Amino acid sequence: MAEPIVIVGAGLAGGNAAETLRALGYDGDLVLIGDEAEAPYARTLLSKSFLSGEATREDIALKGADFFEDLNIDFRAATRVTALDAAEKTLGFADGSTLAFDKLLLTTGNRARFLDLTGRDLAGIVALRKIGDAEFIRPRIKEGGRVVIVGGGYIGMEVAAVARAFGAEVTVVEAADRVMRRIASPFVSDYFVALHRDNGVDVRLQTRIRRFAGGKSVETVRLESGELIAADLVVIATGTVPNDELATAAGIATDDGIIVDAMGHSTAPDIFAAGDCARFFSARYGREIRVESVQNAMEQSKVTAAGMLGQRVHYDPVPCFTSVQYGKKLEIAGLSQYYDDTRIVGRPEDDRFVVYYMHEGRLFAADALNDSAAHEQAVDHIGEVWQPAEPV
Ligand SMILES: Cc1cc2nc3c(=O)[nH]c(=O)nc-3n(C[C@H](O)[C@H](O)[C@H](O)COP(=O)(O)OP(=O)(O)OC[C@H]3O[C@@H](n4cnc5c(N)ncnc54)[C@H](O)[C@@H]3O)c2cc1C
Repeated sequence: MAEPIVIVGAGLAGGNAAETLRALGYDGDLVLIGDEAEAPYARTLLSKSFLSGEATREDIALKGADFFEDLNIDFRAATRVTALDAAEKTLGFADGSTLAFDKLLLTTGNRARFLDLTGRDLAGIVALRKIGDAEFIRPRIKEGGRVVIVGGGYIGMEVAAVARAFGAEVTVVEAADRVMRRIASPFVSDYFVALHRDNGVDVRLQTRIRRFAGGKSVETVRLESGELIAADLVVIATGTVPNDELATAAGIATDDGIIVDAMGHSTAPDIFAAGDCARFFSARYGREIRVESVQNAMEQSKVTAAGMLGQRVHYDPVPCFTSVQYGKKLEIAGLSQYYDDTRIVGRPEDDRFVVYYMHEGRLFAADALNDSAAHEQAVDHIGEVWQPAEPV
């Protein structure tokens, strides 16, 4: 009997890959394993409508109730894969059992970066990665609640916006000199800092934390400066690390993510990876990249599923990303790390603008605020010698 295709990691990429394999006609045994209790859900909404209470668990579920039965997918929830033998083509579990596979797809995503500070283990300190984290945070961001967010990345800033909407007192502590540094330019960072300050968030830049203190639960955050900030809730949002340890231990090449080719193939035969945990070469940007976004998880999982079935595919996307804060929508096309010129169209005071990043005359990236048409246009021109209309 042929062994199944097994997918480890039942998030966006894993669920999507399972669906794609069936859509492409794979009718063999298919197993999807996830260590969370839930079937795939929209993780991105954890810091948005799910945190605010506008969306329920049912609303953020990515698959219908009959999905697994209808597609004959053996879904194993709350099951953690603890070992991978790439040569024997088997997975291992904590109870000592094993599962053989014909082909394996790793869609294990990321986890929150650990912050090694005194007091980190106190109750009331949480990172937002899973549905239970959001359910823990939600009742604590009420009027009068004192919330300290460590890290001014987009997740921290989204949580800050929702907490302010509930009337909590919010302080964001960011070590760098600007927020959302990984994904956006200084111009965009400045806009969002001003937006948050206008909404009553105390944004502290170039500020480091020394330790957390409290009794059973966190009560204060001590800054390096010695200042003490009172806190009922601390949200750690200091970035993520890829869940690539299974692959590393199995001798598969990893480097801040599982290295895959344009078909999603890792360095081991019949083992693939996609989504947040995968690093691939972008011909467009001339370097290896690892993209943490919904768009990447959706598209790479589809392409990789096709690659697993032997189709000749080539994955080299324009990375795209969206963040929503106070109803303002930031849409990012491309990677803005390398550029020698920027053009700005529109004005921050109108809450509508686009920052275009050029390199040697070519469009490398664009950050569009409340301008989806400009975002779509930029996606079409990334990599081309192209000038936006009406620079101001
Ligand atoms: C709060 C938050 C807000 C976000 N907002 C946005 C946004 O606005 N826009 C955007 O583009 N992106 C956003 N993202 C990022 C986006 O959610 C991810 O890029 C996307 O979920 C990646 O999908 P994935 O399937 O690769 O990984 P994940 O969704 O992380 O799924 C991986 C799954 O694998 C499981 N797993 C890991 N190891 C094992 C194991 N050994 N055994 C079994 N299961 C395992 C994990 O528990 C998890 O369930 C956000 C992320 C978070 C946390």
